[in-house]
Amino acid sequence: MNIILMGLPGAGKGTQASEIVKKFPIPHISTGDMFRKAIKDQTELGKEAKSYMDRGELVPDEVTVGIVKERLSEDDAKKGFLLDGFPRTLEQAEALSKIMKELDRKIDAVINIEVPEEELMNRLTGRRICEVCGTTYHLVFNPPKVDGVCDLDGGKLYQREDDNPETVAKRLEVNVKQSKPIIEYYDKEGILQNIDGSGDIEKVTDSVIDILDNLK
Ligand code: AMP
Repeated sequence: MNIILMGLPGAGKGTQASEIVKKFPIPHISTGDMFRKAIKDQTELGKEAKSYMDRGELVPDEVTVGIVKERLSEDDAKKGFLLDGFPRTLEQAEALSKIMKELDRKIDAVINIEVPEEELMNRLTGRRICEVCGTTYHLVFNPPKVDGVCDLDGGKLYQREDDNPETVAKRLEVNVKQSKPIIEYYDKEGILQNIDGSGDIEKVTDSVIDILDNLK
């Protein structure tokens, strides 16, 4: 089962990815995680990726496609994989099609978790952090007992600079623009599966699992 998972920031991609790999024995391959690990391990790849990631830019396609190709050729990915964070550009999507052909395999489904932008704004701007201990809260999903105050130590809660509405709106806009051609590409290929990602997590997980069960 070869799957791509897509969704805007805040759509719950990470949560659904961990539910999928609990149920199906396939590796979760996240290019973002691979780059973060390379940075932590101070490898050559990490050094190269860091400069782009620090600027909030995409790592060049030839580097990213190279590590994905290598990873997909590893033994544990032979029985299937869940790709997360890749492809991010049309060129990466085309390169992935080529890799699949070379490996004599195909992508079975592209699961796109859709959440209205207004709800994403609420999810992403609701985060609050304790200035003393760093505990994270959410105004709607995980509120503190007393407004603006940490449950654990009474510290004042603040909003991170990049969680403010203007920055979040910008981040969403950039992501919508980036993902649109990729969604269109897979729609044309007939393997796009849009899922309603609003509402509760279990309901979304059920829809995802349903689709994957039908692929087997
Ligand atoms: P993520 O955790 O998926 O948000 O990725 C974090 C950062 O890693 C991104 O902002 C990019 O700099 C880099 N990155 C992750 N995936 C890709 C990709 N497919 N293409 C290029 N850069 C990527």
